[in-house]
Amino acid sequence: MEELSHFINGALVKGTSGNFADVFNPATGEVQAKVPLASEAEINAAIAAAAEAQVAWGATNPQRRARVMMAFGHLINKNMEHLAEAVSREHGKTLADGRGDVQRGLEVIEVCMGAPTLLKGEFTDDGGPGIDLYSMRQPLGVVAGITPFNFPAMIPLWKMGPALASGNAMILKPSERCPSTSLMLAELLKEAGLPDGVLQVINGDKGAVDAILDNETVQAVGFVGSTPIAQYIYGRAANNGKRAQCFGGAKNHMIIMPDADMDKAADALVGAGFGAAGERCMAISVAVPVGETTADALVERLIPRIENLKVGPYTAGDDVDFGPVITKASQDRINGLVESGVEQGADLVVDGRGFSLQGYENGYFVGPSFFDRVTPEMDIYKEEIFGPVLSQVRTETYEEALKLTMDNQYGNGTAIFTADGDTARDFANRVNVGMVGINFPIPVPLSYHTFGGWKKSAFGDLNQYGPDAFRFYTKTKTVTARWFSGIKEGGEFAFKAMD
Ligand code: NAD
Repeated sequence: MEELSHFINGALVKGTSGNFADVFNPATGEVQAKVPLASEAEINAAIAAAAEAQVAWGATNPQRRARVMMAFGHLINKNMEHLAEAVSREHGKTLADGRGDVQRGLEVIEVCMGAPTLLKGEFTDDGGPGIDLYSMRQPLGVVAGITPFNFPAMIPLWKMGPALASGNAMILKPSERCPSTSLMLAELLKEAGLPDGVLQVINGDKGAVDAILDNETVQAVGFVGSTPIAQYIYGRAANNGKRAQCFGGAKNHMIIMPDADMDKAADALVGAGFGAAGERCMAISVAVPVGETTADALVERLIPRIENLKVGPYTAGDDVDFGPVITKASQDRINGLVESGVEQGADLVVDGRGFSLQGYENGYFVGPSFFDRVTPEMDIYKEEIFGPVLSQVRTETYEEALKLTMDNQYGNGTAIFTADGDTARDFANRVNVGMVGINFPIPVPLSYHTFGGWKKSAFGDLNQYGPDAFRFYTKTKTVTARWFSGIKEGGEFAFKAMD
């Protein structure tokens, strides 16, 4: 049995707590590795070492730090298949999806190659007689990233890129269910030239997280995961005086107007609803057609598309649309929610219950389900299912569809399919959701924009990646300066690089 490590001070090191968690292969249900769960003492030692390493890293000029990001980006590209395979092996998503997971993280690293531009300060010349004012963006010191299982490469990269490029040291606590990719990324960063101790990958569970939240050296916490944990971490971190941004769960609605291209809308719903077995915070889990004719047209198109979805292990290659869910507990929970939908009166149009795959009977596979005539008081509507289950809520008017979306407690992503620019524009302006797609089902913004939900999908301030991330991982210092006289002679004539 493989025993995984932490990555501390530039090397893979075994855990010393004596506590481990099992890392499963979700396609077979077998334990494929055990991951150490760090003790408070291990966490505190790693944080203290990171604080020491941060001093020189924070003083390294931004362009040199950006060059580490550039080398890191090249190494991620070179190791793309290896990383994608590690993602799929522990998460269960298809290899194509594993590559996408790495790619969308890499794109944030590409933006970090230009970090010096984003770290520039402000300057006021002659704010008073002989007085200049300037603002600097300085690193916070040691910051922490706590990440979920569902994007084992992308979200750690979203955290480490901007934090490190800004001159911080980072303690990264990846999901204990999918820890290997973060360890591989840490090794690549070392190869790219990151000094030892600047990124510490510590594996663990709640105990490790609480130790990070209570450690006085840690200045900021960037969390991504489920809403109850996001809210808990936000509260505890803020109470301990830390900067915190905590991104939570979602229930993303897609409105389909009567004038939409129904085939394209159905294709979009199937991809966004069932891709990665629905284990995406930007998955579409609720279809909201406007008008009975629209709803019927969608059902007619969705049924064959959903029934033809191919479910299987990532090792089956391109022949699979989505893989297993992450754990047995998750499989049981999803099946239970499907049962509740039937009991509470929704119309189960495609029934994924009882799905079994020959040779993989112990894997955590869930067949795709599609419910029509779902109503807002049903559990399948209220809960984030995080599985391959699509619910359709029929509405009579655009205003009713908009209100349904806005009344939902979550506000991560949403989409509208329509041929009418005026409706699309009205929707984008009025809806209280952070990321909006127009004829685009999963509107994850590109890496030079920024990612973040509203309402119960995010706690704290500022978004992930893009310019917001550089604001989150730096603090502003403003200097008011007056110089009475200066030396106006002499000069240096060699053309040289910055130290
Ligand atoms: P999770 O909340 O169970 O775990 C996330 C992290 O928190 C892990 O590192 C875990 O070890 C830690 N953790 C778990 N329980 C804890 C506790 N009681 N105290 C302290 N730390 C704890 O989430 P998950 O199941 O790994 O991920 C799926 C969830 O993440 C979904 O709800 C999904 O919508 C959400 N998600 C949100 C975004 C976003 O950007 N909004 C992105 C991806 C995933």
